[in-house]
Amino acid sequence: MAKILIKNAKAVITCDDGDRILRSTDILIDGKQIAEIGKDLRADGARVIDACRMYVYPGLVNTHHHFLQAFTRNIPELQQAALFDWLIFMYELWTLVDPEHVYYSTLIGMSELLKSGCTTAFDHHFCFPRGVDKVLIDRQMEAASVTGIRYHAGRSCFTLTRKDGGLPPDVLGETVDEFIGDCERLIEKYHEYDPFGMRRVVVAPCSPFSVTDDTITEAIRLARAKKVMMHSHLAEAPDETVYMREKHNKTSFDWAEELGFLGEDIWYAHAICFSDEEIRKLGAAKTGAAHCPVSNMRTCAGFMKYPLMKETGMRIGLAVDGYGAQDGSNMLGEIRMMYLLHRVNANNQGPAPGAYECLKTATRGSAAVLGRDDIGSLEAGKAADLFMIDVDHLEFSGALLDPGAFPAVVGYNRPVDITIVNGEVVWEKGKLKGLDEEAVKARADEIAARIYSSDIYNREAARMRAKRGKR
Ligand SMILES: [Zn+2]
Repeated sequence: MAKILIKNAKAVITCDDGDRILRSTDILIDGKQIAEIGKDLRADGARVIDACRMYVYPGLVNTHHHFLQAFTRNIPELQQAALFDWLIFMYELWTLVDPEHVYYSTLIGMSELLKSGCTTAFDHHFCFPRGVDKVLIDRQMEAASVTGIRYHAGRSCFTLTRKDGGLPPDVLGETVDEFIGDCERLIEKYHEYDPFGMRRVVVAPCSPFSVTDDTITEAIRLARAKKVMMHSHLAEAPDETVYMREKHNKTSFDWAEELGFLGEDIWYAHAICFSDEEIRKLGAAKTGAAHCPVSNMRTCAGFMKYPLMKETGMRIGLAVDGYGAQDGSNMLGEIRMMYLLHRVNANNQGPAPGAYECLKTATRGSAAVLGRDDIGSLEAGKAADLFMIDVDHLEFSGALLDPGAFPAVVGYNRPVDITIVNGEVVWEKGKLKGLDEEAVKARADEIAARIYSSDIYNREAARMRAKRGKR
């Protein structure tokens, strides 16, 4: 397989156990993995990349997203909405989702992730409208092959809809059997158990207000039999806390614990509304969390209790969250937001994570959340997933004392220069290798225009304006 020799990097930020930052160092990539890191490396026939102006970082790992929301974001009527108002509007738009919508929105999300240094993506896809072909995750797998990203597909569902007291409309509902059957099909077809696996499947019921209890117990049974990971939203925002109290007279944590939905093969998105005692139990069970700082600020959800969660041994990774609540998909931006968000709240909850710790949350932390030890750091024997940025620019003069802190503190917010996934250069010189961006954009614009000109969009927008007018 092809070799790449990254020569004389200005700094290699390894994120390894020793937190080493290596200067004037080479990285030899042989096929899918890093073969060697050191000085004066040689390799006959290798492509040589001069990195004397470059910082080299491990590829970032995104632990929660909803690609389908690319065509339902920056909606004026939702800019002031809290979670449930936002969701009820969104659900109506998602009744319009079809395989083409999923394919193009996934291409958009994966492209933005690769451009911002993310090499492994997880997506939580819950929308399977009645009557629409269930090839939606298959279309996402296709998009992953086109873009070259390492992809974990979360097969989610709504099994508790309005007719039974849930939040989503009935047309988006599935039966537990439909959900479990499709998870099983996807695991058989796509899940690569081997190290460096490029495709994995996650059994991922959506949330306590949109799935039935037996969905969770069946998900646990299937995932543990197949040895795959599980995921859900949990303790996402105060709206959920109120719902759980009114409908079940319990907390989100109690609901999960009673169903046995904790453990080292599970991670929750957001994980905000937990008591200290609940967090200690989650830590003891080594449960994971996808931290989504921008989304949490955007939906007025509150602060994840990061210092306590870290102290208890919970696995914590970083995530951009779906386009609908984030309105973008930039992992480097998320690192900076994590750093700043906890500094704002440091007087209330104790020491904020340092700048380098925020980078490590997006690399090693996220890898552990996804159940992987073959990505997240730059070391011989690990997957060749990395990104490189040219820092030899006027605007960074005087800002280069600490390469590990650089993304969080300086706030690098432009596309990275090179992204490599599984030993393949997938983004370089402003071009994605796998796709024609102009052609994708043209079709994606048409799909978005179809959504925003639909009767459903106009009806929901009018409803929200009327609701806001009454306040
Ligand atoms: Zn989400």
